[in-house]
Amino acid sequence: MHAQWNDRESLVHPASAPDYMREEQLHALQLQRLRAITRHAYENQALFRERMDARGVKPEDVRTLDDIRKLPFTQKTDLRDTYPYGLFAVPMNEVVRLHASSGTTGKPIVVAYTAEDIEVWKEAMVRTFACAGLHSGDIIQNAYGYGLFTGGLGAHYGAEALGATVIPISGGNSERQIMVMRDFGTTAICATPSYFLHLIEFAEKMGIDWNELPLRVGVFGAEPWSDEMREYIEGKTGIKAYDIYGLSEIIGPGVGMACEKQEGLHIFEDHFMIEIVDPVTDEPMPDGEEGELIITTLSKKAMPVMRYRTHDITSIIAEPCGCGRTIRRINRIARRSDDMFIIRGVNVFPSQVEAALLKVEETLPHYQIVLSRHGGMDQMEVQVEVTAETFSDTVRGVEAVHKQLSDAIAHILGIRVKLTLVQPNTIERSMGKAKRVIDNRKS
Ligand SMILES: [Zn+2]
Repeated sequence: MHAQWNDRESLVHPASAPDYMREEQLHALQLQRLRAITRHAYENQALFRERMDARGVKPEDVRTLDDIRKLPFTQKTDLRDTYPYGLFAVPMNEVVRLHASSGTTGKPIVVAYTAEDIEVWKEAMVRTFACAGLHSGDIIQNAYGYGLFTGGLGAHYGAEALGATVIPISGGNSERQIMVMRDFGTTAICATPSYFLHLIEFAEKMGIDWNELPLRVGVFGAEPWSDEMREYIEGKTGIKAYDIYGLSEIIGPGVGMACEKQEGLHIFEDHFMIEIVDPVTDEPMPDGEEGELIITTLSKKAMPVMRYRTHDITSIIAEPCGCGRTIRRINRIARRSDDMFIIRGVNVFPSQVEAALLKVEETLPHYQIVLSRHGGMDQMEVQVEVTAETFSDTVRGVEAVHKQLSDAIAHILGIRVKLTLVQPNTIERSMGKAKRVIDNRKS
């Protein structure tokens, strides 16, 4: 039990109690759940059982938390190859909800929940919102898409269980979003960061003064974004922008969340066990060192996912957090190995480019990377919007800004790429996840 629950100043929802668990207690709970879920998956998931048998590992071989390393990994392709229901571990009459990923390549990934799984998800989302200092009395405008995507309903049920008022507005219709935000007294918004950037522009066009809105919190996720982007959003609107982490394959939003200290994301470790491994050798990485994040669902029954390879690159922050939570944190996930592309032998992540661009004052947070091939050589062009004033000679002129941005990108990537400064509102806006890279190399 946490001493501050009844303190108005730092109201913590009772669902957040596990965030403050003692380490031994957490580890005991994790081990108990890991053993149970390993057995459940072994008995009910053919693919997992085959792989365990091939390794000669039995569920009873899991005696300590470190024994998780004996278990086989799950790859995203496993979820595709078993489409639609091949990884379900309960009879269909126990499945109360399905979601699916949009699936840009081929078949989507289908995920399932029992009634109990929905409760776990709801609890994780309550703890997520509590990390952002939200509580009953808050009015949460949920601009995540409702539907097969996990974002909308995940945030919705969490917000209701928190005791907050939820506005299920879904994505799109920006003018109405702003009107609702103002007239309904929205205090928190859930959206992708790129959609919120779009709303910032809309609000400006409508002559809205952010200081006059009660909005104080943004819960932004579902796509990688940088700390520089967070600073931009906070500076522009005066709200506090929180990074939320989740993935449909694991449960949806609510796997991890930034707290008011804004240093990394707490992972709800009693439900999601994390490891960081070297993506090439699969060896565990020490705390503080970067590697691929591996997640095991400890509580989910309909479709347990054992040692899932997220392709997200991050590291564990071992130091205790100033907020008092004892569950560990990972660093902001600014890089996904899936987003990486190679130009002239150099590995490039869009978020590196974003960080370089936003260090320059005249930059607007709207950019696109265009890849093409000329005469057998790969070319990369960065198109970025800069303020209208940059194009008038009064400030410091286009050339000076161009040079500064060009140098900033070269400094981060180690190679020179083509850079084009464009007028505000040139680059297409996104209602959901932004498309940062256009790859014309194959066509
Ligand atoms: Zn914290």
